[in-house]
Amino acid sequence: LPVLAVVGRPNVGKSALVNRIIGRREAVVEDTPGVTRDRVNYKAEWMERQFTLVDTGGWEPDAKGINASVAAQAEVAIDLADAVLFVVDGNVGATATDEHVVKLLRKTKKPVYLLANKVDDARQEPNIATLWSLGLGEPYPVSALHGRGVADLLDLVIPKLPEVSAVAKQEVGGPRRVAILGRPNVGKSSLLNKAAGEERVVVNDLAGTTRDPVDEQVEIAGKVWRFVDTAGIRRRVHLQQGADFYATLRTSAALEKAEVAVVMIDVTEPISEQDVRIIDLVLESGRALVLAFNKWDMLDDDRRRYLEREIEQDLAHVAWAPRVNISARTGRHMEKLVPALERALESWDTRIPTGKFNAFLAELTAAHPHPLRGGKQPRILFGTQSSTRPPTFVLFTTGFLDPGYRRYIQRRLREIYGFEGSPINVNMRVRE
Ligand code: GDP
Repeated sequence: LPVLAVVGRPNVGKSALVNRIIGRREAVVEDTPGVTRDRVNYKAEWMERQFTLVDTGGWEPDAKGINASVAAQAEVAIDLADAVLFVVDGNVGATATDEHVVKLLRKTKKPVYLLANKVDDARQEPNIATLWSLGLGEPYPVSALHGRGVADLLDLVIPKLPEVSAVAKQEVGGPRRVAILGRPNVGKSSLLNKAAGEERVVVNDLAGTTRDPVDEQVEIAGKVWRFVDTAGIRRRVHLQQGADFYATLRTSAALEKAEVAVVMIDVTEPISEQDVRIIDLVLESGRALVLAFNKWDMLDDDRRRYLEREIEQDLAHVAWAPRVNISARTGRHMEKLVPALERALESWDTRIPTGKFNAFLAELTAAHPHPLRGGKQPRILFGTQSSTRPPTFVLFTTGFLDPGYRRYIQRRLREIYGFEGSPINVNMRVRE
């Protein structure tokens, strides 16, 4: 989906605006310094157009780190969003922190909309004329809290977002999009350098596509791959505070653009909560997944035994993801990465014909019927694969299936069809 990002310094009302746009009134979060909200990406819809709204304000710095943090927000938005909503306080006007961000925003070719928030009343509107001086074009008065002006603004902004998502836009046979993810120092830039350094970097001059400097196209073994958000990998933001939040922001936004993620894990260190969180972001995004265990050159026998135990414990839920044990430094087993990506993408694209799928369901239910519940047995009437990328199935049933039974169906699907490297969804429609 196209990505719209909300940027601005603390207290200008970004969260109120986000809530207003996604249509959730109950949860207006106070702009309290130091507060972290978990969610970064929201699926939103306006006039039947779907888009992803990125809330860069999930972490509000205190006064000390403010300029660096707001600049980091803006940087992520500029690199990864299709358009930016830059919010200032219409009653306060532009502050020094705002000016800082404006410099970054003026350089981008992406559309930037200047929003003067907290303009609750038409009588305040003349005050915002001074904001023209920021050089970002017309300031739009809005009141996120009361909804004033927001609909008009969306009417203007949303139709100008790119028609379809980056993924859907891909021509058949075009380069596939890969996100390299992992916590700091796992070896992301080393992997990228290894991939890009040894092979030719292809200049992206396809007719009709604007060159996107945050991605890099690389030819590996005769095939071109597109690594997304390499700018985010190469360029390091040094933040004293909020570093985790910006890492999450960057990861989520990169996943929007990618089809498959390589999550890198450092084998010299215990698998951490952060590793698991990154994998969870991939699962949530529905993208294909490959796990790359890096720094294999540093692995000794002791650590290796622990690692195997940790994998069993912490990564059991993604046992279906292909694993490669590599060293980005020495180049060990780097040639296994591409075949793993290909397998994962193939699974992600797989479509099982409806006839075959129903034969599978008939066999499954005959061998292992749903347990009786209150003397009744929910039956599966019919099933079909409703979409690919990732494979998603719908079952039409006469009653709710137990979660355990649904997991059993998923397990059988993997046993029969594999789906190595791809998440799969099994949904239900109950016909009463
Ligand atoms: P990033 O933060 O994920 O981009 O990580 P870098 O690529 O900058 O790597 C962090 C550090 O780990 C650097 O000092 C690299 O040289 C080192 N490193 C990366 N890959 C390997 C590897 O396979 N083996 C070893 N021994 N060191 C590695």
